[in-house]
Amino acid sequence: MNEFVIVGAGLGGSLMATLLGRSGRRVELLERRPDPRSGPVEAGRSINLAISTRGLHALEEIGLREQVLGMAIPLHGRMIHPMRGPLAFQPYGTHGQAINSVSRLGLNQALLGAAEATGTVRLRFLRRCVDLDPESGEVLTVDARNGLGEERHPGIVIGADGAWSAVRGHLQKRERHDYSQTYLSHGYKELHIPPAEDGSHRLERHALHIWPRGGYMMMAMANVDGSFTVTLYLAFEGPESFHWLRAPEDVSRFFERTFPDAVPLLPGLHQDFFANPIGSLVTIRTRPWHHEGTVALLGDAAHAIVPFFGQGANAAFEDCLALSGALTRYSGDCARAFPAYEADRRPHADAIADLAIANFQEMRDKVASPLFRLEKRAEALLHRLFPDWFVPLYTMISFSRIPYAEARDRAARQRRAVRGIGLGLLLLVL
Ligand SMILES: Cc1cc2nc3c(=O)[nH]c(=O)nc-3n(C[C@H](O)[C@H](O)[C@H](O)COP(=O)(O)OP(=O)(O)OC[C@H]3O[C@@H](n4cnc5c(N)ncnc54)[C@H](O)[C@@H]3O)c2cc1C
Repeated sequence: MNEFVIVGAGLGGSLMATLLGRSGRRVELLERRPDPRSGPVEAGRSINLAISTRGLHALEEIGLREQVLGMAIPLHGRMIHPMRGPLAFQPYGTHGQAINSVSRLGLNQALLGAAEATGTVRLRFLRRCVDLDPESGEVLTVDARNGLGEERHPGIVIGADGAWSAVRGHLQKRERHDYSQTYLSHGYKELHIPPAEDGSHRLERHALHIWPRGGYMMMAMANVDGSFTVTLYLAFEGPESFHWLRAPEDVSRFFERTFPDAVPLLPGLHQDFFANPIGSLVTIRTRPWHHEGTVALLGDAAHAIVPFFGQGANAAFEDCLALSGALTRYSGDCARAFPAYEADRRPHADAIADLAIANFQEMRDKVASPLFRLEKRAEALLHRLFPDWFVPLYTMISFSRIPYAEARDRAARQRRAVRGIGLGLLLLVL
């Protein structure tokens, strides 16, 4: 008999399985895809992703921090590519802090290895969850390849099956279950900058490259093999949008006009552009995150957010620690642990969801403006002069474990105080 059944062996599910397994619990980890450690994997979203302090802390708890850092490229700041003129580097922190570009596949493989190494986690690939009985906590799966071979998996269910969670779908059918999904008007497409002939990176590898263009933008993050994964964020419809980029000449014209310095770096532009799908960007909020003591949700299944603060996986990892902590605090009594976990985490998930949307506007519209750069420099100076009083929002989110909602509220207080001081000084001068 399983104690826990986790649906989804992505980033959150495999970390949660490891935490439970390390505390001696018997876990069945169900995943609809094949084992990413052997054979080809389904082409998915975001080949690499940024792991920062929150994620590293969770990885440290299961002894994976150094291994993951060993396969990461630290990014010390943003490199802004204006339409014209020289590149501008904006450091992330005043103390050389860095976010870490990691391969999603490599991270998932490491987490699955850690789950398996506990000895109490049973991994089951190619099992797709198709039904759930929230009362008894039993999951029904089929063989993901042909929809046959039904199997029942009894146990306390944890839904870690991503933004389009089947587990959440079954909770949603119940009375008084709130759910909302909001799409951005923009989508994303991944492109590829190959390594230089000598295998080196064609751009500065220790920076997150951004091409801010007002209503849209492009980003690039280095991979360890010398390549960069590039993501174009563009509206689906409207004057400058995916809708108008239908023929190779449209794509060439658009890139030559808006991202001229990137064009020579993208030899496979047309091939990538027409082969790769356009991903959508959704914010999902739902409540409750649990049912009695039988089912709980974590990660994107509970709160999918847009990727502009690079926090989705970091937040999923924080959920795992919070859920595991609640289970320990309540001695495994899920009926008490699950509500406590939700009460602890949901306000912070809501906060980072809002902050991530706001950061999209900042990245695409503001980072190139001289006023914005001045503001960032002023923030860095204030932080250096009064490190306990003034901490920039980005620093709190990416380089601290201050809960997201507290970071948001503190940033708002700081902003008000700084404006008040500025106004006071102005009045004095006048
Ligand atoms: C373009 C982009 C860039 C991003 N960049 C960052 C970043 O820089 N930093 C960051 O922290 N986050 C980033 N994210 C967010 C991050 O990818 C997610 O928040 C994170 O993967 C959530 O982990 P999860 O375990 O909840 O879900 P997932 O990682 O999506 O895992 C869910 C798993 O469940 C499986 N599954 C789904 N349905 C079923 C089913 N019915 N039965 C069985 N298994 C099922 C899936 O196959 C998958 O393996 C980015 C996201 C996108 C889209």
